[in-house]
Amino acid sequence: MTTSVPTFTQARWSLSELYPSPDSPELEATFKKLEEKVGEFEKVRPLLSDEMDNDEFMGIVRQLEGIHHDGNVLYSYAGLWFTEDTQNQNAQTLMARIEQFLAELGNRTLFFSLWWKDIEEAQAQRLMSGAGDYRYWLEEMRHFKPHTLTEAEEKIVNIKNVTGASALNTLYDSITNRYTFKLEVDGETRELTRGELMVYARQHRPELREAAYRELYHVYGKDGPILGQMYQTLVRDWRNEQVNLRHFASPISARNLANDIPDEVVDTLLDVSQKNTPIFQRFFQLKARWLGMERLRRYDIYAPVVKSEKSFDFDTAARLVFDSFREFDPQIESLARRVFEQNHLDSEVRKGKQSGAFCWTVVPGITPWVKLNYQGRPDDVATMAHELGHAIHSMLADQHTLFTHHASLPLAETASTFGEMILVDRLLAQEEDEDVRRDLLFRQVDDAYATIQRQAFFALFERTAHEMTRQAASVDDLANAYLDNLRLQFGEAVELSDEFRWEWVSIPHIYNVPFYVYAYAFGQLLVMSLYQQFKAEGESFKPRYKQILAAGGSVAPVQLLSQAGIDVYKPEFWQGGFDVIASLVDQLEAIPVQK
Ligand SMILES: [Zn+2]
Repeated sequence: MTTSVPTFTQARWSLSELYPSPDSPELEATFKKLEEKVGEFEKVRPLLSDEMDNDEFMGIVRQLEGIHHDGNVLYSYAGLWFTEDTQNQNAQTLMARIEQFLAELGNRTLFFSLWWKDIEEAQAQRLMSGAGDYRYWLEEMRHFKPHTLTEAEEKIVNIKNVTGASALNTLYDSITNRYTFKLEVDGETRELTRGELMVYARQHRPELREAAYRELYHVYGKDGPILGQMYQTLVRDWRNEQVNLRHFASPISARNLANDIPDEVVDTLLDVSQKNTPIFQRFFQLKARWLGMERLRRYDIYAPVVKSEKSFDFDTAARLVFDSFREFDPQIESLARRVFEQNHLDSEVRKGKQSGAFCWTVVPGITPWVKLNYQGRPDDVATMAHELGHAIHSMLADQHTLFTHHASLPLAETASTFGEMILVDRLLAQEEDEDVRRDLLFRQVDDAYATIQRQAFFALFERTAHEMTRQAASVDDLANAYLDNLRLQFGEAVELSDEFRWEWVSIPHIYNVPFYVYAYAFGQLLVMSLYQQFKAEGESFKPRYKQILAAGGSVAPVQLLSQAGIDVYKPEFWQGGFDVIASLVDQLEAIPVQK
């Protein structure tokens, strides 16, 4: 294996496994083929009956899968091509054409899921018993049966939503996306977008961090009463529909069912998060010492502690990632290598190329494509491990159907975050430069705060806000409740200023997708706990871990984890995740502070 040493260089990916070129006859033929397949599928409509036999039923399911398969290939080709150069008008046009085409096909195949949700339980059970790997997908659709209204009512809800909740959300986006922010930097006043403004929140100079936050909430705060009113309207609409009409037990239950996570599990997760505020408070106190401050202000929680200049060339980075993966498991390494070997990786930085990173799975059986914008910072190495982790997850689950391949939201970040942790461990073990070590550790806890604790406390606020709104609370009452939520989170460790009362009106997720945020905390804590089990058990942990990944989206999350010996109903499980963060803070506390 070590006789020939490959060298990794940054390159552009190849999409030729999907189509030879954007104007190839093969691509054009897919439109025609899909049109025909959907035409065929429409003919099964009159055949749908709860008395149909298993073979006939499965034939229809596979027909639908075939349509989705071709649609995914078509859409992915255009989508991936577009990210290579977002200024490419041909790519834009192709993508728009495909989106429109697929939306129309989607409407024409919708009848199947409506019929499936509607049939009698005994017949559904009979059909599912012969459905093999498709089973969980079929089962999940039917979870919504008790909360589904009559067809006429559903149509009314849909129509009224367009001009109701979704119109309010569009309005919220339109209003807030127009905001511009003014910031004085080195004597010059700059006009910035929110994204540009927030770069200063992670800046070295404390006065700029403060000014950035003050400006952010000054602008949102001016519209605070109106944005708050919009939020309350959405909250009332959510209750009217989900609780009153669809009979969910509580506002959050509707989201929990969509994630297929039981209410008690989410409650436990949020309770344990609340009990663990002291860990992050300790972290913030530590950070204050490193920054030479008496007490950290809310403005400073993402302040950088070190300015490390360490950089990794691409070849070194790829080797580091492969080495750390191999040390964990050789199969994991060889799957990650496949992305490189098949030329499915675009790691170059080019003008016009979409920023950021992703892993894009097209269909099971084809190696995913990974996009990076590799620039050599320690962060970029971690991102490489993260995205390759996603690719590994996808390839380990390759034996599943298209409908059961992709892990559900709370499990989707498992392999990516785990891969990052393996890498960081290796870096920490071999790094001798204390600055770089410290930088890596601080970054890990910063991330844990942002993805776990901050999100869990958003969800806790949402729960309070939905209940308070039911009891006719005002927007100011909600703003005060939000400050209470922050006080609980930060305790004495962080100085809070009054403008943060408007932070909640600046969080699009709580408007657009109520209670979405806890899935982040779920996923990250899960990985932290898994990692702790790995540390404690070593080898025996690995098959269990790979089994979780290999299940893809073919099993309910809670059931899957319980098969792996993990009981997410137990507070101790979630505590295990926080214990990992606590040990990171311990390591940081052991380093003598230099100012
Ligand atoms: Zn990810």
